[in-house]
Amino acid sequence: MKRRDLIKYLSVAPVVGAVGAGIPFLSANAAVSTVAKRDLIKELGLRTFINAAGTYTTHTASLMHEDVVAAINDSSTHFIMIGDIQDKVGEKIAAICHAEAAMVTSGCWSALVLGTAGVLTGTDLKKIAQLPNLQGFEKTQMIVQKSHNVHYVHAPTNTGIEVVEVETAEELEKAINPKTAMMWFLNLATNDGQIKHEEWLAIAKKHKIPTMIDIAADIPPVTNLWKFNELGFDLVCVSGGKAIRGPQSAGILMGRADLIKAARLNAPPFGNNIGRGMKVNKEEILGMYAALDHYVKLDHDKEWKDWEARVAVIESAVKTVGGVTTTVTVPPIANHNPLLNIAWDTAKVKISSDDLALALRNGNPSVEIMKFSPNSINITVFMLKPGEDKIVAKRVQEELKKVS
Ligand SMILES: *Cc1c(COP(=O)(O)O)cnc(C)c1O
Repeated sequence: MKRRDLIKYLSVAPVVGAVGAGIPFLSANAAVSTVAKRDLIKELGLRTFINAAGTYTTHTASLMHEDVVAAINDSSTHFIMIGDIQDKVGEKIAAICHAEAAMVTSGCWSALVLGTAGVLTGTDLKKIAQLPNLQGFEKTQMIVQKSHNVHYVHAPTNTGIEVVEVETAEELEKAINPKTAMMWFLNLATNDGQIKHEEWLAIAKKHKIPTMIDIAADIPPVTNLWKFNELGFDLVCVSGGKAIRGPQSAGILMGRADLIKAARLNAPPFGNNIGRGMKVNKEEILGMYAALDHYVKLDHDKEWKDWEARVAVIESAVKTVGGVTTTVTVPPIANHNPLLNIAWDTAKVKISSDDLALALRNGNPSVEIMKFSPNSINITVFMLKPGEDKIVAKRVQEELKKVS
């Protein structure tokens, strides 16, 4: 059959899908390959860069592994009920992370919002429709340590929940009252707060209050994926697009099955809820699962050694410039990976970190780093592609040499 005749035939055929499926130019894959020929980055004049800064939202965080992109591409040519995907992927994620249940959310941020919504509403559709107005709700408060009350708290408060601050365990016991709906813990702030995980959980359990923890950027170590579920947090929220390298807009909410069920009712595909705008498409849900599955199977010791080797390459190159000193640290909780600080004596190396950052950005290839102080920058290597460490080393060395 000629193409023209076939199209004519298909326009009246009742089973277009079945006929079209075997014909390359009519299958949905044809559309994908046509688009792939266009170089949109070039067409739109967008700047790409080597990411020596880290998993910053501004920098589009991380690059998805090819397993993730394959999951996205493969699922993009099929319809699947969104609820079915959440069910299956939720089961798989829960098993990997030793949780009772899980769901994919649009980032850790909406995991925080939807989890809190679930705690407040349960499966009561009237309550779900009423959020963020908590009038008539018995439980309306969330207890947070003062040092944990930083801007991420804005996420749970989207539900209308009121934040009650405490500093000591004694204050916590006193703050618990019939209006207490939840106790929220920011893992990043663990070392700043007086009450640590175990004590926080023990007090919550004693009073039967649900607990939530934000561990958004706290993978690696990989063990953090299950550590807080095993410790007994009722809800655990993590970013998918940071070190796990899932879709940037994906995250995971995991924990108690009844709370995940309630959280899902506060999210799409259901409407008349505060989560309706926090949609995650089938490609992202499957991509998140593919990323997590890939991530847990990595050789994490080997990865760590690779990161250290990259740091060493950059360190030894920049130290050849007089007046330059380097320090390697590992942030204890969030973004836990080797961080290289490059500092210089401005009497010998006459450049500000602003100007160095600009020179690296405007160079070829463009390189993004983080300014740390007027005379030092930070370099994070875990988002570099293989070989980029050498380019970063060369570019930073060149710019520092120019002005020394
Ligand atoms: C990144 C981050 C978030 C937000 O996570 P997204 O996945 O970007 O939505 C929330 N809390 C903390 C502590 C974070 O670092």
